[in-house]
Amino acid sequence: MDKLVYHFDEGDRDQRDLLGGKGANLAEMTRLGLPVPPGFIVTTEACRHYLEHGRLPDDLRVQVTMALRKLEDDVGRRLGDSVDPLLVSVRSGAKYSMPGMMETVLNVGLNDYSVRGLVEASGDERFVWDSYRRLIQMFGKTVLGMEGDDFAKALEAAKAAKGVTSDVELDAADLRQLVEDFKVVVEDRCGRPFPQDPREQLDLAIRAVFDSWNTDRARVYRRRERIPEDAGTAVNVCTMVFGNLGETSGTGVCFTRDPSTGKPGVYGDYLVNAQGEDVVSGIRNTLSLDDFAEVDPASYQELRRIMRRLETHYRDLCDIEFTVERGKLWMLQTRVGKRTPAAAFRIATQLVDEQLITLDEALERVGGPQLAQLMFPQFDADAERTPYTRGMAASPGAAVGKVVFDSATAVEWAGRGEPVVLLRQETNPEDLEGMIAATGILTSRGGKTSHAAVVARGMGKTAVCGAEALHVDEEEKVARADGVEVREGDLLSVDGSTGEVFVGRLPVVASPVVTYLEEGLEPALDGVDDDNAELIRAVDRLLAHADSVRTMQVRTNADTGPDALRARRMGAEGIGLCRTEHMFLGDRRVLIERVILADSAGERDEALAALLPPQREDFEELLAAMDGLPATIRLLDPPLHEFLPDRAELMVRVARAEEQGAAAEADVRLLAAVDRLHESNPMLGLRGVRLGLVVPGLFGGQIRAVAEAAAHLIAEGHDPRPEIMVPLVGSLMELHLVREEAARIVAEVAEAAGVALEIPVGTMIELPRAALTAFRIAEEADFFSFGTNDLTQTTWGFSRDDVEAAFFAAYLDKGVFTTSPFESLDVDGVGRLVDIGTREGRRTRPGLKTGVCGEHGGDPDSIHFFQRVGLDYVSCSPFRVPVARLEAGRAVLGKEEADTSDDVEIQRS
Ligand code: PEP
Ligand code: MG
Repeated sequence: MDKLVYHFDEGDRDQRDLLGGKGANLAEMTRLGLPVPPGFIVTTEACRHYLEHGRLPDDLRVQVTMALRKLEDDVGRRLGDSVDPLLVSVRSGAKYSMPGMMETVLNVGLNDYSVRGLVEASGDERFVWDSYRRLIQMFGKTVLGMEGDDFAKALEAAKAAKGVTSDVELDAADLRQLVEDFKVVVEDRCGRPFPQDPREQLDLAIRAVFDSWNTDRARVYRRRERIPEDAGTAVNVCTMVFGNLGETSGTGVCFTRDPSTGKPGVYGDYLVNAQGEDVVSGIRNTLSLDDFAEVDPASYQELRRIMRRLETHYRDLCDIEFTVERGKLWMLQTRVGKRTPAAAFRIATQLVDEQLITLDEALERVGGPQLAQLMFPQFDADAERTPYTRGMAASPGAAVGKVVFDSATAVEWAGRGEPVVLLRQETNPEDLEGMIAATGILTSRGGKTSHAAVVARGMGKTAVCGAEALHVDEEEKVARADGVEVREGDLLSVDGSTGEVFVGRLPVVASPVVTYLEEGLEPALDGVDDDNAELIRAVDRLLAHADSVRTMQVRTNADTGPDALRARRMGAEGIGLCRTEHMFLGDRRVLIERVILADSAGERDEALAALLPPQREDFEELLAAMDGLPATIRLLDPPLHEFLPDRAELMVRVARAEEQGAAAEADVRLLAAVDRLHESNPMLGLRGVRLGLVVPGLFGGQIRAVAEAAAHLIAEGHDPRPEIMVPLVGSLMELHLVREEAARIVAEVAEAAGVALEIPVGTMIELPRAALTAFRIAEEADFFSFGTNDLTQTTWGFSRDDVEAAFFAAYLDKGVFTTSPFESLDVDGVGRLVDIGTREGRRTRPGLKTGVCGEHGGDPDSIHFFQRVGLDYVSCSPFRVPVARLEAGRAVLGKEEADTSDDVEIQRS
């Protein structure tokens, strides 16, 4: 017979899969000898069986009987007895915390007999009748599927009859009558009486908790948080202890350090004469732990001792729920606590200093996404704020703008220079222009994978999604939350890092962490408060440690000298991708236009010659900025039409001119060229190496500019290290032809300048064919750089520009993707090609240098994969360099996710 029920003293914290998070930690605390009310856990396996087969496992009844009897023997009381009865709480508890999503039933075991026993044992008749009516109410709602309204009406009637307005004014006799009324309500609605048999109550409650795994809100939550659908919940059956037995009782929550800031020192709330739910619901004002120390010094001292014990045991911040019953402290829950990104960094280094964890462990406990959050501009923490609503922190940043309710208004207002916050129930592809125009996005529906969230993150735009308390009337242009109305034109401040939204304008300040990353430790520490100083030092230490353990280098994608310098300050160890097409925009567009339009070889050579000096200048600046470090320069990649005017516009211009006489000769020629070069699928057309091979001199000119820039810098005593990279190669021959040309030009330039020049020539691997024939291509490549943007497009067969807005949100919603493959590498498909390409390439050329320069080079999950494949470096945008350094270090330690969630649900009271 499978073991489906565990006593608290039989499990431990490593059994979260089987016992759920709450159960495993209750078991752990019991093992530690802490005062946990005795109880047992029905496993997630039992739940999975129930969900799969629609009935409880056959053995379960018997196993529950055994566990219950042992529990009764341990505490010396019987469930629902008429003398000093045992009562239990029946609570859900899945592996991953799903706060408030599933059900709980308290006071199970109370009935018309045990109620008298409890009166005797507690000596508090009012408390007992109140507990009984709460049981009927909770049982009715959770187990019997009744509406809360049914009971609310009876309660209102009882108060009206007595002429009072609040529950606390009802005395024992009133509550006793209310119990009778509630029992009638149950019988009326359900056609059966409230079950008097304590065991039946328990069995039904267990089943109801299992059922609550599948409520709508639990399903939605799981989808949002990517919690597996089939994990199931455990059920914790625990001896009831009462925090509402008078002034010497109470209940509280506490943290062993401050989870919002990471400040050392305990932090928590206590409520006298109350039960657990009352603390969280915020109905009454809570006491601080200091006040608790005054009220009940003995319990406080014991709590402090336990907090220290738990923190030492878990070697981390613990979050604890406790109850005091007539001066006796009971531990009801603990877990490693959630925390903000700042707290994660600070606490990790504090624990290192306290010799509780190693630096490696500290590095495992922070993550790139947390560091990224710390780098966004923030709302000034000291500013006065008026909370408006709260949703999912969908895309980080701090945005302030005037509220608009539709895309057109967003575009119009933003067009005249007014920052706007686009507020919608949810967005769809038609809102795209408005989203681009807005500085921030707020929606009342949808989670982290909704259209708004996905698109906002893709654009790097601040967004809060699924603020469910918000009622948005897009017609009336008004949004209400908790009685506060916001209309079109009102100011809102949206914090995409925490999910909070405030009324009015909050001041935005630069992140002190960015100051540190850009300017170094000393300037960053200058003038900041102690909290920020500790944070900056923590980031510095953990980044330095990541640098010391990582084996992959981190380069940057930078096209200009200033970008390169910035990235270098952030720790980049070279350029992994310089996209040269950016050199041909602006004023220089006409120069490349002349190359494209040239009728003869002579005309084209002339146009190309004119391009040489400005390119050389750019390369010199770039190489000087990266002096001593490698700089991979990619030859021209995009289709030529991108350098020409818009086709439709040009057609209109020519047609108009013709109507009025004659069109300009230049325009007619241009239109002919545009027509000639027009492609239906330019992403798969004449671009990359194909272009270099059909437009003579185009790549040659770029190679010459690079070589001349390097020769000039060498002559001046610098140490330029350019590498030439060929895009979109699919066959060995393509690369061979470019390489030959490069070798010839570099030799010519070296000889003319009288310097030794060695410029490696490598290729991007961004087509499946290149990856699959890597063993051939490596014959001609000094290095490989995986262009995972194009490799994702070409492997999946979709073009990014078209698909992201069109159907990605739907795909995420339906679970086809868990994240966009453009954000996080599709390991199974695209990743396989990266793996094949690397291994095959190295088969031909042992030690072949391989890197990645697609967007994935800065994505934490993808970085861990690249480490496993054995790449030499990742390259990413300058701003993501610190994130990549941190994750490359963590990848060596083998930690995928930070040990603590970055999804922060901490609200300070
Ligand atoms: C890539 O395809 O991954 C890449 C880096 O090139 P681009 O994004 O410029 O096409
Ligand atoms: Mg590419």
